[in-house]
Amino acid sequence: MCYHATAVEVPSWGFGTLCPLSQPRPRSTARRCPMVPKFREVHRPQSLDEALALLARPDVRTVPLAGGTALLAHPDPRVEAVVDLQDLPLADIRVEEAHGGLGLGAMVRLQALVEDDAVRAFAGGLIAQGARESAPLLTRNRATVGGCVAVADPLDPLLLALLALRARVRYRTPDPREQPLDQFLEEREELLGKGALITEVVMAQPGKWTGTALLKVARTPSDRPILCGAACLSLDRSDACQSVTVAMGGLGARPARLHGIEALLAGVPLSEEAIADAVGRIRWPEAAPSDVRASGQYRLEVAPVLLRRLLWTAWHRAVRAA
Ligand SMILES: Cc1cc2nc3c(=O)[nH]c(=O)nc-3n(C[C@H](O)[C@H](O)[C@H](O)COP(=O)(O)OP(=O)(O)OC[C@H]3O[C@@H](n4cnc5c(N)ncnc54)[C@H](O)[C@@H]3O)c2cc1C
Repeated sequence: MCYHATAVEVPSWGFGTLCPLSQPRPRSTARRCPMVPKFREVHRPQSLDEALALLARPDVRTVPLAGGTALLAHPDPRVEAVVDLQDLPLADIRVEEAHGGLGLGAMVRLQALVEDDAVRAFAGGLIAQGARESAPLLTRNRATVGGCVAVADPLDPLLLALLALRARVRYRTPDPREQPLDQFLEEREELLGKGALITEVVMAQPGKWTGTALLKVARTPSDRPILCGAACLSLDRSDACQSVTVAMGGLGARPARLHGIEALLAGVPLSEEAIADAVGRIRWPEAAPSDVRASGQYRLEVAPVLLRRLLWTAWHRAVRAA
């Protein structure tokens, strides 16, 4: 069957078909070989329709290849073919003229978010900060916005920043569809399993009197966070909370919107006491994951402190903006 796609031979032992175990090779490489992906096909389509046709094949398990930082580092042995997205028109950062909203193409690299003036100016620099803190420079030069959404790491600061800004995900199934990011994350496995291709992440410009914050708890500044959260808080004309969106990661398998605190603070005249009182009233999960960095108990103890600081920071920034 012809999909008009280019099957690219990769001149490396990184791909199983080119690395038969029977060939002699240096000992160190021989040890690594079983750990690398064994894709049968690597396609590099020139149009979205070609990519979607390849991803929709029922008989060959095919997934998109974006920056490859997660896909190649943690290969899924069931994947038989990859569709390299780098030639597709998905790498634009778009600012909407009319409303100042932002559109981030799925193939925009994380480092581009750190460097782009429009992104740095958007929402108090929340997205640029999230991208900078999400991975080291070498990884940021390859990793993409689409990969970040598809991987959905609950402690990815960029993903949490996008959630706090109520971002929406545009994707093709092959029909074009759009969903709020939090809803997309709930259906992510099913959608990606059916060959959905993320094309863009879009968000509206927050109101004038808005403050944002992105904070984390980690053993060292560059270590993977134990907990991470992002908030976007807008004030109305009377300095009461018009709306607030909070996302936190580290308390479960998925990053979560904290709808409880969002409802408690809406319309409330803000003060440090009012925020502390609202934080004291929300219900936390009964258990959180434990790992080498922290116990679940520690995470649950620290979560209200992090949330309070997030809200205080976003509120103070909103007051300064007003
Ligand atoms: C050294 C190193 C450090 C890292 N540190 C961190 C870290 O601190 N925090 C963190 O969160 N992550 C980290 N990562 C993981 C990784 O960088 C991110 O998850 C990244 O956003 C993945 O993007 P990518 O473009 O490389 O995706 P890829 O690796 O190309 O793809 C990842 C998955 O997403 C799917 N996918 C990619 N693009 C699309 C699309 N447009 N539509 C549908 N599916 C798609 C792929 O099929 C694959 O299943 C690290 C990785 C490395 C190698």
